[in-house]
Amino acid sequence: MIIEKSLVLIKPDAVERNIVGKIISIYESNGLTILKMKKIAVSKELAEEHYKEHVGKPFFNDLVSYTTRSDVIAIIFEGTNAISKIRTINGSRDPKTASIGTIRNLFAINGRENSVHASDSKSSAEREIKLWFK
Ligand code: ADP
Ligand code: MG
Repeated sequence: MIIEKSLVLIKPDAVERNIVGKIISIYESNGLTILKMKKIAVSKELAEEHYKEHVGKPFFNDLVSYTTRSDVIAIIFEGTNAISKIRTINGSRDPKTASIGTIRNLFAINGRENSVHASDSKSSAEREIKLWFK
């Protein structure tokens, strides 16, 4: 049991549909605490840096367009095993395969517009927290 921090983004499709509160309440119900939170208009540069592991993949340009099309909510959550816990709460990338009751199962539109991002490791959490909360 380790207390960790993780970076969550509530992505444009969810902010546009006014389901931010529903999504945050799921994290809070699972024992996660908000350390910092902000609404941000994402630049192309920030989206490209955030998703740099995917540069060159066929979905990259559409991913950057989607991430920058309207505001995002960036949150640092803290809690026990927060990094893996949040990935489990979010569900797998595509809502067609995400487990029942996960955020992506409940709210994602498709495999790109999938409502949430979360750090996938300790090193990505450290990198992403620095990037979004400079
Ligand atoms: P995750 O967000 O679960 O960590 P990935 O790191 O694989 O997933 O991908 C980052 C984001 O890029 C996804 O959440 C999704 O928005 C988009 N994406 C990934 N793969 C695809 C794909 N094959 N088609 C469309 N969008 C994709
Ligand atoms: Mg990822």
